[in-house]
Amino acid sequence: MTQSSFKLAIAALALSAGVFGTSTVQAQRNDALLAAATAEQPATLRTLEQLVNIETGSADAVGLKAMADYLDGQLKSLGASVERIPSPNGAPGESVVGRMAGKGTRKILLMAHVDTVYQRGALARAPWRIDGNRAFGPGIADAKGGIAVILHTLRVLKAQGFDQYGQITILFNPDEEIGSRGSKDLITQLANASDVILSYEPTVAVRELMVLATSGAGRVDVTVKGRASHAGAAPEQGINALVEAADLVLRTQDIDDAKRGLRFSWTITQAGTVRNMIPEQATLSADVRYLRNEHFQEVIQKIQAAFAKPRIAGATFELVDDPGRPAFVADDGGKALIAKSQAIYKEIGFDIAVVPVTGGGTDAAYAALGGKPVLEGLGLPGFGYHSNNAEYVVIDSIPRRLYLSARLIMDLAQGR
Ligand SMILES: [Zn+2]
Repeated sequence: MTQSSFKLAIAALALSAGVFGTSTVQAQRNDALLAAATAEQPATLRTLEQLVNIETGSADAVGLKAMADYLDGQLKSLGASVERIPSPNGAPGESVVGRMAGKGTRKILLMAHVDTVYQRGALARAPWRIDGNRAFGPGIADAKGGIAVILHTLRVLKAQGFDQYGQITILFNPDEEIGSRGSKDLITQLANASDVILSYEPTVAVRELMVLATSGAGRVDVTVKGRASHAGAAPEQGINALVEAADLVLRTQDIDDAKRGLRFSWTITQAGTVRNMIPEQATLSADVRYLRNEHFQEVIQKIQAAFAKPRIAGATFELVDDPGRPAFVADDGGKALIAKSQAIYKEIGFDIAVVPVTGGGTDAAYAALGGKPVLEGLGLPGFGYHSNNAEYVVIDSIPRRLYLSARLIMDLAQGR
């Protein structure tokens, strides 16, 4: 990310009236909480080691089961009731949902995913290790660090005797890295039943930050149907699906609109079977990134409008679309949560930068569909996620991340 994007983000935040005012003024350091968060660092590291040592690739049914068992035990030891929901359609893994009832009224959802992008065996090649201020292991930042922050935030709150929430719901889902197909409806449902949602994807080691928007990432597949004919003897009797597909590509070049953050690109095509036959079928696939969910629908409508004017009479079209992970744009509630986080961090002498938009989406998008305020990026500062051997988290960030997380929950539970 660039310097100018920081400035943009800060300008954007300043524009939303009142966001900075109230929370910065009220912010006052909670010394007992900071001491407890600091004392919790060694236990958090031990949990991280245990989490890393259970391999949880998104397709690893054995590892995901072991992880669900582990988290089930951890949540019960915190006094939570635990529900385990298998992924639908026999997909690997299960979502683990913990619930803790308090004496207050506000409902808070904490969420992190347990799966990683790594296949079994990655741990043998890059085992758990500590080197200076860094702890290494596959998935340690994305998002096992987030799981550890959730568990130890709850430990700190419990040790402080804090129970002024109505209910804290904890969701650990098993399929974020493959689009959360099995857990997305559960995420939206739990989020809609909550007052506020805190999500624990990692932040960046070099600069702790939070993001105002992430793009939706969808796809469109089009099949063009024509008519086969001998390419030498009677090409004019055919309907050339390849030519029609090529023309469709050109007819849809105006869909891409970078100014609105709408990126549309045809990326895959396939046509024809043998050289001497007019191809009767061609397929096209497009990658679509969008910042507003209605923009995806607009893309579909524009492609369908282009179908209405074929270059070759008689060509027909079929379209299949998948909006994929939706776009996420922090609304006023989300912006207020970022401002509150910045104020809490300032109490203990640290800063959180704000980034206007990134391409990579998270489950925050599914959580936000119902309009409840969502905050993403409460995991540990890390580096090298989705790479081969060097994923790490910053060890001495643990106290401040626990403080931020616990302090947010305390405030939000009391409607502050
Ligand atoms: Zn992640």
